[in-house]
Amino acid sequence: MSRVYNFSAGPAVLPEEVLKEAAEEMLDYKECGMSVMEMSHRSADFQQIIDDAEADLRDLMGIPDNYKVLFLQGGASTQFAMIPMNFSKTKNGVADYIITGQWAKKAYQEAKKFINAKVVASSEDKTYSYIPDCSDLDIDDDADYVYICENNTIYGTKYKTLPNTKGKTLISDVSSCFLSEPIDVSKYGVIYGGVQKNVGPAGVVIAIIREDLIPTEELADVPTMLQYKTHADKGSMYNTPPCYNIYMCGKVFKWIKAQGGLQAMKEKNEAKAKVLYDFLDSSKLFKGTVVKEDRSLMNVPFVTGDKDLDAKFVAEAKAAGLVNLKGHRTVGGMRASIYNAMPIEGVQKLVEFMKKFEEENS
Ligand SMILES: *Cc1c(COP(=O)(O)O)cnc(C)c1O
Repeated sequence: MSRVYNFSAGPAVLPEEVLKEAAEEMLDYKECGMSVMEMSHRSADFQQIIDDAEADLRDLMGIPDNYKVLFLQGGASTQFAMIPMNFSKTKNGVADYIITGQWAKKAYQEAKKFINAKVVASSEDKTYSYIPDCSDLDIDDDADYVYICENNTIYGTKYKTLPNTKGKTLISDVSSCFLSEPIDVSKYGVIYGGVQKNVGPAGVVIAIIREDLIPTEELADVPTMLQYKTHADKGSMYNTPPCYNIYMCGKVFKWIKAQGGLQAMKEKNEAKAKVLYDFLDSSKLFKGTVVKEDRSLMNVPFVTGDKDLDAKFVAEAKAAGLVNLKGHRTVGGMRASIYNAMPIEGVQKLVEFMKKFEEENS
């Protein structure tokens, strides 16, 4: 067996310890005589798995008691619709969107189907290579919420300070920076993310929602499965949840705790990103594509400026066991996603390889 260094943006690398543990428990989970995949979601064993997962996540993130933690399905993309459907008070409700990339734009376009969604800031003018100044935006007086995508997976930017929402509820898509560093949950109304970037296997979306925002009455014109109330009332088990994936997320939470929690994770992520960014800043061949102040710790796009050379790099890197480095089709070039589970050795190997490639191709 030989494992590669996997720089995929998502689904992405998972901690090897977690995969090994899951493999050991595959046929017989804790003497149940069956796999977690085969288990009733109504069983005591599964209830323990989901309860532990929630408790560990609450502990890791310091989630206040007045926030619900929901394990949902449908990917982050389903949240693009659920958010306006649940959090806008009327059909003509207003919500303000900050567009820092494709995911924020998709969320905005989806919201427009249901409510009066407005763009209050955007970095589309420069291919989303920066985070706009959000200190004094023209927030609507009647906005139900302000929406951001906190880490832009495709473009490699991240908010270093949260926008001034002028008292309005902040809703944040954290899919690609989930659990990468400590955050103050109380600053948000809703934090949500698909887990396949930094937390677990595709199939789960975690939504952390301040309780008072969840509609208390059933929404007559919103499908049952698309109401947060449905899932909040039933502890994420209104219907069959993605049991195995929740179990895997729970293992990753325990792994992060064993690493020292989110502060330790942040320090490791900063050290990893520094290795790569320092090299990019000194390289004559490779360069980063976004402004330095807004650089993501998780997704690092870079280019040579020559498409053929980019393609050669991606192919040769793959042959050297450094895989999934091709950039998103809208940015081109390369992108190294260096999530929590990517060891620093992987980033060091990548930089060594880039140095060698630079020598051979200049
Ligand atoms: C990947 C991604 C999404 C889309 O996730 P799906 O689970 O595929 O719907 C949304 N937002 C961000 C920031 C992402 O990185």
